[in-house]
Amino acid sequence: AHLEELQRQALHDELTGLPNRALLYDRIEHCIEGLDRHDKEYGLLLLDLDRFKEVNDTFGHYVGDVLLTKVAERLRQAVRGQDTIARLGGDEFAVLIEPQARPEEATALAKRLVDSLNAPFKVEGQSLIVNVSIGIVQCPRHGRDPDTLMRRADIAMYAAKERHAGFTVYDPSLDVNSPARIQMVSELSHNIDDEHLRLHYQPQVDLASGEVRKVEALLRWQHDDGRLLMPDEFLPLAETTNLIDAITLWVLRRAMKDCSKWLEAGHRIGVSVNMAPRSLHDAHLPRRIARLLVAAHVPPEMLTLEITESSLLRHSLLADGVFSELRQLGIGLSIDDFGTGYSSLTHLKHLPFTELKIDRSFTRDIASSSGDAAIVRSSIELAHAFGRSVVAEGVEDQSALDVLLDYHCDAAQGFHYSKALPEEEFLAWLASRQG
Ligand code: C2E
Ligand code: CA
Ligand code: CA
Repeated sequence: AHLEELQRQALHDELTGLPNRALLYDRIEHCIEGLDRHDKEYGLLLLDLDRFKEVNDTFGHYVGDVLLTKVAERLRQAVRGQDTIARLGGDEFAVLIEPQARPEEATALAKRLVDSLNAPFKVEGQSLIVNVSIGIVQCPRHGRDPDTLMRRADIAMYAAKERHAGFTVYDPSLDVNSPARIQMVSELSHNIDDEHLRLHYQPQVDLASGEVRKVEALLRWQHDDGRLLMPDEFLPLAETTNLIDAITLWVLRRAMKDCSKWLEAGHRIGVSVNMAPRSLHDAHLPRRIARLLVAAHVPPEMLTLEITESSLLRHSLLADGVFSELRQLGIGLSIDDFGTGYSSLTHLKHLPFTELKIDRSFTRDIASSSGDAAIVRSSIELAHAFGRSVVAEGVEDQSALDVLLDYHCDAAQGFHYSKALPEEEFLAWLASRQG
């Protein structure tokens, strides 16, 4: 009995009682041996908590440990009995899914795990929020040995982190050293110029006056092979290199030039520019932007910077100084994709932001979902109580707009008015609207 106990200890994690890395590898190898007997696939999910270090640093190791056991408990509840959950150490967990009929089962499980872990944890009277990033590999498709599978799951997990995607399935193009990635980085580094990068503008309509007071600048890459690439196709990659800094500066410069041109033509239309989370670390950013504004003769209040709620939560401590400086310059600060990061407005109230941008996932069903409508309504009310304005994005039809008008939302943006357009087409759209 004593020997059995020793063996159990060697294969399990002390804190959570879950299988450890050694036992997981053993089970993976067992799966691989059995592969030829059935043509199904195994799924392996690698989970990493996004803000665990912060919890440990802020609340101490005891709270950190309790949190980990609670995470383990939620994982146990979310998976089937025959699947293996392991703790690999620190805040890393893995789930091995027994043969599945369809590969979608792994992503469906990942989605369930993300949802289940995203709900706040109650520890010692604290409400703790830890987002999770999950990398997914399929065996044998992505590898036939534990090391390869784990390495690739790790790559997919980091991709999920970068993209704030919750989970990502491994793909060879994610490999930092893959030829496809190296080629793309090299092409992009030679394409940060007016010939290849384009800004499209999507109008924001002021709901009280019906006027267009502002546009959001959305980036496109005109590739030499003739394709027009959307931001999701190249920005996550750029954000893993320092190319993103040059791109952000290009976007700001282009946007300020266009804004200044419109001013001269008698259109007072501000521009909202999306900021990569990384830029918040750049202490020189406020000074650089101030210079750009002066050079383009654009008043600071005509520029708004959009920062996503989730990146703000991740970088909260670092961003504070940069944030206040930008605000002191008179630049508008908008919290983008609001509602997806699970922060509370009370938590954000000390940040000097000027605008809240409600994520399109809430706007989409606002006319049919009373839950979404309630979230939007209370966000608007609280933002107004703090003296902030609210923009709803992703407004696609009149029924959504009617609800937003009813809730006194300040501005709306979406396909209902216009998609993002090249500058000339945007000016033509504006003229036809006014004419
Ligand atoms: P985002 O900031 O949430 O931008 C809005 C996205 O929603 C745009 O996609 C826009 O085309 C789309 N959209 C607008 N109205 C509607 C609608 O009514 N319904 C639906 N379903 N979608 C709508 P896009 O242009 O593909 O941009 C994707 C994301 O890429 C942006 O999301 C933003 O996070 C990022 N991005 C774009 N430009 C830049 C940039 O210059 N710098 C940085 N760092 N990120 C950028
Ligand atoms: Ca945005
Ligand atoms: Ca958005």
